[in-house]
Amino acid sequence: MAKPKLSNASRASVRKDSRRAADQAGAVIQFPPVSATGSIANHMREVIRELGEDPDREGLVRTPGRSEKALRFLTSGYSANVGEIVNGALFDVQYDEVVIVRDIEFFSMCEHHLLPFFGKVHVAYLPYKKVIGLSKIPRIVDVFARRFQIQERMTQQIAETLQSLLQPRGVAVICEARHFCMMMRGVEKQHSGAITSAMLGAFRRNKETRNELLSLIGQRARAI
Ligand SMILES: [Zn+2]
Repeated sequence: MAKPKLSNASRASVRKDSRRAADQAGAVIQFPPVSATGSIANHMREVIRELGEDPDREGLVRTPGRSEKALRFLTSGYSANVGEIVNGALFDVQYDEVVIVRDIEFFSMCEHHLLPFFGKVHVAYLPYKKVIGLSKIPRIVDVFARRFQIQERMTQQIAETLQSLLQPRGVAVICEARHFCMMMRGVEKQHSGAITSAMLGAFRRNKETRNELLSLIGQRARAI
């Protein structure tokens, strides 16, 4: 097979601000509703007490419940269902140029410190007979971001999910993130970011295809 070429036409498919585009398309986040059962809140009360604060103080009295609700939201990816989110938005087309969704914002929780890490994900794939509704890609990112994660695994999981849904000629996922566990504690390197990537199919096999993609989305790699 000839080297897949990322033509000028394909550049038109680079989507800026994908999340706004998704919202305009009326996409609904199909995560289960978040409700606090109190089981985490009770523990949070003890955490607050253990840290030397008074959980009955006015400003803190409702904090355990709010904290539980926030944690359940931030980990709602565990109970999200990729099939329901995609909901049939796979289309048979003869389009075989690269599709890029760039600058997908995400927020996740580092599993080593339970502190946030956040940044942007860029997703590209080379279709083979099938494309996915563009608004679905940020939703798939959220499924894996809203968990206790490490950046490397999240990047890989997004790529593998698109691979199994679309069986495209290639998938590339690049993630740029900053980690609170680095910024607020320990090394306190506030401006250092981590970049991870997962390349499958043509993007893994073919260096030119990969380099062309990186030049399309890489110019902004330092922008976060
Ligand atoms: Zn960490």
